[in-house]
Amino acid sequence: TELLAKPIEKIRTQMEDLQKADASISRIRALFAIQSKIQDGPGAQLPAGPLSVDFQKVTFSYDEDQPTIDELSMTLKPGEVLGLLGRTGSGKSTLARLLLRFYDPQSGVIALGGTNIRDCTLIELRKRVALVTQNIEIIQGTIRDNLTFYDETIRDEQIIEVLQELGLGAWYEAMPEGLDTGLASGGSSLSAGEAQLLAFARVFLTNPGLVIMDEASSRLDPLTEQRMEKAVSRLLKERSCIMIAHRLATVQRADHIVILDAGRVLESGKRERLAADPNSRFSQLLATGLEEVLA
Ligand code: ADP
Repeated sequence: TELLAKPIEKIRTQMEDLQKADASISRIRALFAIQSKIQDGPGAQLPAGPLSVDFQKVTFSYDEDQPTIDELSMTLKPGEVLGLLGRTGSGKSTLARLLLRFYDPQSGVIALGGTNIRDCTLIELRKRVALVTQNIEIIQGTIRDNLTFYDETIRDEQIIEVLQELGLGAWYEAMPEGLDTGLASGGSSLSAGEAQLLAFARVFLTNPGLVIMDEASSRLDPLTEQRMEKAVSRLLKERSCIMIAHRLATVQRADHIVILDAGRVLESGKRERLAADPNSRFSQLLATGLEEVLA
C-alpha cells in the first residue's frame, strides 16, 4: 500500500483538476449556449412607418415538453391595434418575447412588414419594435441615453418637450444634472408610474413601427392614470400596437381582439363584431368583468 500511496494521491489530484476543468468547460458551454442561441440576422431592413405583424403557425416551448405557443397564427395590418387577452400563463408575454427575439420559435415564421424577423439584425429589430411595460429596461447611462438609445439626431429640446407633455416636467427639473443625470440600471430609483411614463417618452422619441404594451395590472394613482390615458392615445396614433390589456378601458381602444388560451387562439376578430355577438367569449368576458378574469 505504501508503494501505491503516491500514485494514488497523484491520480486523486489529477481527478480533482479534471473535475474543475470540466466544471469550467460546462460553464463556458452554458454561456455560449445562451449567447449563441439567438443568431443575428443578415441585415434585412424593416419598412419605415407602422409595421404589419404576421405569425404563421408559430410553435415554441421553453423546455422540450408541452408547447407554450402552439401553432399560433395571427395577423395585424399596419397601424392596427390588437388587444391580446388571456389568463395568466396563457402565453401573452411569451409572444412579446418571441417578437423581440429573446427566444426563437421551434417552428413557424414571425414577420414584420413582410420581413422574417430572423432576417434583420437584432439591433434593427429592437429599434423598430418597442416594449412598453412597467419594468422599463433601464440601461446604464444618462437619462438622455435611456430615452434616445444613443440616437444623436434627437435634440435635447425634443426630449424635454416630450417629458413635459407626459407630465414628467417636475421630475426632470429635480434631476441634478438634467439630461446628463445617470439612471441606475434596473431603474431602482424610479416609481412604477415614472418608469412607465419614461417608457412612453422613449417610444415618442425613437418612433418605432410596432409597440407592444404590457399594461400595468396594478392600480395607479389617479394623476398617473390620467397621464397614462393621454399617453396611450398618442401612442396608438400612426403605429401598430399589441396591447396586453388588463382593463376594460384599454381593451375598448383595440381594433382587433385575440383571446389566448394555453398558447392557442381561442377566439379572434374585430372588437365590435365580437362585442356584439352574445355567444362570443369576448362578450362573455365583458359580462363577467374583464378585470377579475384577466387579473
Ligand atoms: P402570460 O403572459 O399570459 O401570463 P407567459 O407567456 O408569461 O403567460 O407564460 C406562458 C407559460 O410559459 C406559463 O406556463 C409559464 O409558466 C411558462 N413560462 C414563462 N416564462 C418561462 C420561462 N422563462 N421558462 C419556462 N417557462 C416559462
